[in-house]
Amino acid sequence: MTDKLIHATAADNQIRCMAAVTTNLVGEACRRHRTFPTASAALGRVLTGGLLLGSSVKDLEKLTVHFDCDGPIGNIIAQADPYGNVRGYVSNPEADAIEMNERGKFDVRAVVGGGKLYVTRDAGFEIGLMKEPYRGMVPIVSGEIGQDIAYYLAKSEQVNSAVSLGVLMTVDGVEDNGSENGWREPRTAAFSLDQLRVAAAGGYIVQMMPSGDENLAAELERNISRAPYATDMVRSGHSPSEMLREVLGDLDLLVLEEKEPRFHCQCSRERALLIISALGREEVQDMIEKDGGAELICHFCNEAYQLSADELGELLVQN
Ligand code: ZN
Repeated sequence: MTDKLIHATAADNQIRCMAAVTTNLVGEACRRHRTFPTASAALGRVLTGGLLLGSSVKDLEKLTVHFDCDGPIGNIIAQADPYGNVRGYVSNPEADAIEMNERGKFDVRAVVGGGKLYVTRDAGFEIGLMKEPYRGMVPIVSGEIGQDIAYYLAKSEQVNSAVSLGVLMTVDGVEDNGSENGWREPRTAAFSLDQLRVAAAGGYIVQMMPSGDENLAAELERNISRAPYATDMVRSGHSPSEMLREVLGDLDLLVLEEKEPRFHCQCSRERALLIISALGREEVQDMIEKDGGAELICHFCNEAYQLSADELGELLVQN
């Protein structure tokens, strides 16, 4: 199934919803960054959350979700635009909690710990349009990512939201033992990262508009509490709109927009050269003489750019 991102309303615009299936793009992010299982789950949830929040920003805007964690994972960052492009990384891709949590899921909270959650919207830097970025901050209250984003939306944007984000990982060549997440319990069997696969990833955000009817809010709350986890719905093949129908129950759903989201980074060889040339002549000269070139690795996508001494020499001629 291809990844999909939708934006919708329900109950005559009183409810706003976003939902996404992100299995492929989360898989690509985890492959690029070589994340361990729990770090993969954390990164996948933040990428999906960023994408859902980013789907509501305006043209040319960018949304950054930054979990500044005091747990072993360090920072988790996702940056999304309104067109469905997202990129992101974690400081420590090897952060991992061997024990599953009490619900048999990856113990994301154990690698996140506490800390702060920042959400930044900024616009137009690429085209020289300098608008003050908007930045909101809340403490990390749960460490499970979805609940933290819901807390941010309630505190910082005054919107009551239900947020469900999930990532299901499997190990190729290891028999599914029927446990909810397909992992052997306890997680002792050795595996290599190349066997690790994102089997399902996705999520939704359902928001009650402040003007919404109280009875409707109560009905929505009941429906949400009965709905299956996002991961389980993606795993059983639900599309984003089917996911929302499951969550909304009998409430009518109107899909406004559908996109194909992807992991996409704006870095390039040209940009890498620009960064090097900004370092100044002496430093570039040094790189040529001492290192015979330079290597630049993009944090966001882990792409490595090998710049030869000749290419660096060109920079010196141009400047
Ligand atoms: Zn990149």
